[in-house]
Amino acid sequence: AAELLRVEDLKVHFPIERGIVRRKQVGVVKAVDGVSFSVRRGETLGLVGESGCGKSTTALAVLRMQPVTAGRIHFEGQDITAQDRSTGSFRRRMQMVYQDPYGSLDPRMKVADIVGEPLVVHRVCASKAEYRERVAELLATVGLLPAMAERYPHEFSGGQRQRIAIARALSLQPSLVICDEPVSALDVSIQAQVVNVLMELQQRLGLSYLFVAHDLAVVRHISHRVAVMYLGRVVEIASRDELFDRPLHPYTQALLSAVPVADPEAEAARPRQVITGEVPSVMNPPSGCTFHTRCPRAMEVCKRESPPLVELGPGRATACHLHPAVIPIRPEAVAA
Ligand code: SF4
Ligand code: MG
Repeated sequence: AAELLRVEDLKVHFPIERGIVRRKQVGVVKAVDGVSFSVRRGETLGLVGESGCGKSTTALAVLRMQPVTAGRIHFEGQDITAQDRSTGSFRRRMQMVYQDPYGSLDPRMKVADIVGEPLVVHRVCASKAEYRERVAELLATVGLLPAMAERYPHEFSGGQRQRIAIARALSLQPSLVICDEPVSALDVSIQAQVVNVLMELQQRLGLSYLFVAHDLAVVRHISHRVAVMYLGRVVEIASRDELFDRPLHPYTQALLSAVPVADPEAEAARPRQVITGEVPSVMNPPSGCTFHTRCPRAMEVCKRESPPLVELGPGRATACHLHPAVIPIRPEAVAA
């Protein structure tokens, strides 16, 4: 499938400053430190990792809501790195759904106005009648009734609110929707419903998703491919089945060890790793492979040398000294 989004060697570094009158930079937090991936048309790329690994910062950088230190972001064939969220040419085509369906909807606005606001801002509708019709259509698209348009967010459950947020995100007919933990605030029983709404919409509208989450069961359900992040870097990218059935990076193996698998044969064949210790601080990451302090397979070289992300097969890449490539490849090649 054709590529919709390409992120190349993205870096988002924050200065650490001290002092009140005269501020002085005393260090730098490398929240995102050389991340490359792509999202194809009609596909979902899951972006996973423990909290603080840089997933959300990556999502905000792609949305152009977060300044970028280095690297490039290409969307629909355009380099949007220098653009920003409020004025960028891409802004109608890339939308987002946030984690918190309570905080993200204005409690004083009727559902119709929440869903329809982008239509007004971008002057999409020629008449009031067309506007009302479009809002009703959007609500129907996510399985809500037209009468719900006149109600307020507090009258809805978490799952319904997230449907409202999805309807709003779709109002300008985006090609890419960035979902940052869109179901993690919901009851488990409701999560599958909302994920299924997203999947149906993808089928119907040909949408692409960058789906940021820490819940691997949800990511496995919705994703076509998955990228795993650790301390600001992508440590493994693979198709969903390859990643879950044959993870290569010890960190991925450790993450997956915690998730039960339905197929007992796959379960038995799966490599098992247990991670020990806490996630190190991004303010002071370990040398070499930043996972070496927790990796059960760490070697001497791991403390000294940072392993590059190398391609091991079509669409499969990992960054680990256990899996050296013959030739380390360029970030743009990994992203493709
Ligand atoms: Fe473990 Fe070394 Fe691979 Fe890092 S490079 S994941 S420390 S084996
Ligand atoms: Mg987050």
